[in-house]
Amino acid sequence: MFSKGTKLFSIAHSKCPHCHEGEFFVDPNPYNFLKAGDLLERCPVCDRRYTPEPGFYYGGMYVSYALGVALFVSIYVAILVLYPSATMWTYVIGVVVGLVIFAPVIYKYSKIIWANLFFAYKGVERTPKELAEQAARAKG
Ligand SMILES: [Zn+2]
Repeated sequence: MFSKGTKLFSIAHSKCPHCHEGEFFVDPNPYNFLKAGDLLERCPVCDRRYTPEPGFYYGGMYVSYALGVALFVSIYVAILVLYPSATMWTYVIGVVVGLVIFAPVIYKYSKIIWANLFFAYKGVERTPKELAEQAARAKG
């Protein structure tokens, strides 16, 4: 649906934000509760790290909040349009049930969206800039 090289490709297919080929999650199924949202440490294809610093993915909470609000509004408008005579409790229950059902999906996408905000597509091979940085690190 989205072409490789766009951030939406990485997000929609749960692929490495650097090369768009390797898997990003240990298990891409968000309803596998034992591994939900767990990231691989490195991309299995391009070997770049997914976590540049400890606690990097705490920022995903901002994305999670935005997705939660978007879902809230979507459910609210859907009830408003489909059941114009709905009571207040229909809205409350509809929104709460929707948020509970979609919480694992929101959790998963908040992480990959957060990663894509900071990592640019570089392809599988190391870029000249990365090779220069690697050489500088090796020198000390
Ligand atoms: Zn990769």
